[in-house]
Amino acid sequence: MKKLLILSGKGGTGKTTTAATFIKFTGAKAIADCDVDAPNLHLVTSVRVKPDEADFIGAEKAKIDTNKCVSCGLCMDNCHFDAIVKTVSTFNIKEYACEGCGVCSYLCPQEAIQMNDDIAGSLKLYKDETIFSTAQLKMGRGNSGKLVAAVKQRLLKEATDQELTIIDGSPGIGCPVIASVSGMDMALIVTEPTVSGLSDLKRLIKSASIFEIKVAVCVNKWDISPKQTETIIQFCEDNSIVFAGKIPYDKTAYAAVNNGKSFADYDCPARDALKMVYENTMDVLYDNNIN
Ligand code: SF4
Ligand code: SF4
Repeated sequence: MKKLLILSGKGGTGKTTTAATFIKFTGAKAIADCDVDAPNLHLVTSVRVKPDEADFIGAEKAKIDTNKCVSCGLCMDNCHFDAIVKTVSTFNIKEYACEGCGVCSYLCPQEAIQMNDDIAGSLKLYKDETIFSTAQLKMGRGNSGKLVAAVKQRLLKEATDQELTIIDGSPGIGCPVIASVSGMDMALIVTEPTVSGLSDLKRLIKSASIFEIKVAVCVNKWDISPKQTETIIQFCEDNSIVFAGKIPYDKTAYAAVNNGKSFADYDCPARDALKMVYENTMDVLYDNNIN
């Protein structure tokens, strides 16, 4: 199985639009959305069945047994996250503020604080002719490498007979991105023609190089800044990174998303540009010589 990851340095760069269009172009039947803070790949996939769901256990949360608590205040004084509050009669943990570090539990002289598993969200696996893995976080919980790894693991376990999988990676440059990159064959990095886009791109390439996976780059909305697009192309050339193409700003994107479709379903300039990016990406993924 070839595993292609679509990445970007931040949300809103066109990563999911690119992933959805590639899924349509390839007909890939094994897909995952690891952008679980704001999952929306499901909006443009045809999977409509009820998912198999499983709890996702995130960080632990502290809980005070008020019957044991003698109100010494040691826990509150030592919580670096201000997650413990004094009430009229006892102390309480603020669920959303607790980071699960365990310091309060360790220090409590009464052994009144327990660390409990926290169900941070739900893993979802949709199975019909397409296998689609994703997750839904509970309010106030953040994405993590552990969650991304779980989303990917569920997909790969189920899709053993598939030749290609396309994964919409987590945006950004943190731990969930590292977990997205791990075990992939290739990453297509979607960037915007901005200074911060280039900065994020450099960091993503560094992450990908640690895992020794293939990389290609494309610029979305390149016509917003042709000059910065040229800078990115030059950067790719100077560093022997495949530049897979540039996609123009195209208002068709709004119509596509609003209608639950991808660019592949519309005859428009962005579709044509993405087709070229797709073909160049496949050449890299399957080791066809494109230079
Ligand atoms: S350290 Fe333990 S006993 Fe002291 S206030 Fe906190 S929970 Fe209560
Ligand atoms: S586990 Fe850590 S963050 Fe949570 S309440 Fe205790 S000391 Fe604060």
